[in-house]
Amino acid sequence: MTKRTPMVAGNWKMNGSRSLVESFTNVLNSHTFDNMDVVVCPPAGFLSMFVAQTYSLGAQDCSAQDNGAHTGDNSVQMLKELGAKYVIVGHSERRQDHDESNETVARKAHKALADGLVPIICVGESLKIREAGQVNEFVGEQLGAIFAILDAEQVGQCIIAYEPIWAIGTGKTASPEQAQDVHAFIRETLANYQSDLALNTRLLYGGSVKPDNAAQLFAQPDIDGGLIGGASLNTDDFIAICQAA
Ligand code: PGA
Repeated sequence: MTKRTPMVAGNWKMNGSRSLVESFTNVLNSHTFDNMDVVVCPPAGFLSMFVAQTYSLGAQDCSAQDNGAHTGDNSVQMLKELGAKYVIVGHSERRQDHDESNETVARKAHKALADGLVPIICVGESLKIREAGQVNEFVGEQLGAIFAILDAEQVGQCIIAYEPIWAIGTGKTASPEQAQDVHAFIRETLANYQSDLALNTRLLYGGSVKPDNAAQLFAQPDIDGGLIGGASLNTDDFIAICQAA
């Protein structure tokens, strides 16, 4: 049976400063993270200020285009030059603030893979969708758009993060059972696309993960780690969450 390497990725969102970069660089590099991947995703402008030795860097978004006339955007090629290995695509805040459609997200994931970054693709429902009992249908559609553009081999190189919108930044974490249910559904959907995908693809949970709930969430059979927002801005909290994986 394949063993999936656990991963904890910190999404700084539009937060941080030169001094926070320095303290993360110092604190994380003085830790070793065995048999797991630790990733920090700061705003793009901070990427090159890190000296990441024991962990990796990721960006929070990328353009689906090649370098050219796209003011304000960052190409995959540039993010790579700045030190990124991963890139988050389709975070619900980008879907909302920038009207990113499922298709746009899929195109970004495709471009990331084509130019050499590993996409961390975010999916997840609003409270309204959950209350209407349409979680699987909604998440299934988000995944369907990915499958429409990426072949099975490409999907196999991606990481998928399930982040229920109602749990992001609200302090309301999905219960381990609620999170596990959707992760199991995502794995089943991957299996229907191609059987190996289910076994090998890493699935992260995101939404108010904190040091005191991380271990329980990460202990679920289909949860391979977390995508951490607020708690990724504090070195002690972030390290405690990494240690729970
Ligand atoms: P949160 O954010 O941990 O602050 O809820 C998670 C995310 O949006 O990636």
